[in-house]
Amino acid sequence: MTARTLDPAVAARIVAAVNAGFDQQLQFTADLVAQPSVRAKEQSAQDLLYTAMGERGLSMDRWQIDPAQIDSHKGGSPIAISYDDVTNVVGTYEPATHTGQSLILNGHVDVVPTGPEDNWARSPWDAQIIDGWMYGRGSGDMKAGLVANLFAFDAIRAAGFAPTAPIYLQSVVEEECTGNGSLSALLRGYTADAVIIPEPEENMLVRANVGVIWFQVRVEGRPGHPREMDTGVNAIDEVTALMSNLRVLEGEWNAKQGEHPYFEGVHNPINFNFGQIHGGDWPSSVPSWCEVQVRAGFYPGISAEDAWTELQQCLQQSEASRRGVTYLVQRTGFFAEGYVLAEGSSAEATLATAHEQAFGSELKSFVTPGYLDGRVFSLYGGIPALVYGPISENIHAFDERVYVESVRQVTTAIALFIAAWCGVEPV
Ligand SMILES: [Zn+2]
Repeated sequence: MTARTLDPAVAARIVAAVNAGFDQQLQFTADLVAQPSVRAKEQSAQDLLYTAMGERGLSMDRWQIDPAQIDSHKGGSPIAISYDDVTNVVGTYEPATHTGQSLILNGHVDVVPTGPEDNWARSPWDAQIIDGWMYGRGSGDMKAGLVANLFAFDAIRAAGFAPTAPIYLQSVVEEECTGNGSLSALLRGYTADAVIIPEPEENMLVRANVGVIWFQVRVEGRPGHPREMDTGVNAIDEVTALMSNLRVLEGEWNAKQGEHPYFEGVHNPINFNFGQIHGGDWPSSVPSWCEVQVRAGFYPGISAEDAWTELQQCLQQSEASRRGVTYLVQRTGFFAEGYVLAEGSSAEATLATAHEQAFGSELKSFVTPGYLDGRVFSLYGGIPALVYGPISENIHAFDERVYVESVRQVTTAIALFIAAWCGVEPV
């Protein structure tokens, strides 16, 4: 398929408008990073975006995610928290003339916890720019991208044009744990001819990404005094044993990478992360309980149900199971399949052209062993999902940062994509 093209004079005006608005864009990004929008505490960040979109004349929609609706959908993930205070924000641009193709500009506003703040060089919520990098939790993942969407849209109008197709600016929650935010937006009826998600992807386009399942394994041990330790069952030892069984399965899945298109040669595409562990009550008591929270990746094309069956079988076939150790396995979040972006779409060709104009180099694609909301749009909405965004470092770690020049170039590419994909008319 061919790219939709843009008049060079129009492109030059849009590039100039991105540059003219960039200081303001960085300030707004810093204001957004200052909102500590960890899970279920996204409201102040959503307030900021709701206001900013409303000021731009978009018609605004804000709603609470409906657990029943999520539960009834194949792509929904189990919900372990209350959604009472958990809302999505969407601003809709309705064109005066509708001749182009519609577009969703999606980003997630939720961020992962900081860990011990003393390990950060400065507060994770104080987004300073130092030597060309903006710091802060969520700076890269993905508030810079979320704000890039908004300012790319601004640049079209600041350059004196109006897009000629509907555009939906989405700020969703729950991307870091379930994907239920984007799913809720899809189920609310938001659809389009393409979606862009500016996750921190090193200035590249994601060709494929893995599915992810979150689950908890809880072992019930038998407490006792260490003097008669043999009569007890040490729940911590048993959880450790179950974890090593999972490590074996992880290795087996990694060994199959050659069977999965695009995954050949990717370093460790399948990762099982033991993210949290709790157990026991006292150093001198054989622990009666222990639980571990696990994140397991799996290849696209495999259903979440099938991956889950294999994970459970792995535990059932363990030594611990054979010895009669009691444990409970429970899904706690992500139950999400991976996806592959089909090659040859006109959306991708249009982004490739926009990227070349913004960067002066060819758009590259790659495979990422992480979860992305792109699967919601592509698997359940039939919408080509372009996950494409700036250079970052230390996401989900200490001193997260995003490269400012890359943010400017990605914003330019998104603005040029909007203009080409949606079409523009002078105002
Ligand atoms: Zn992200």
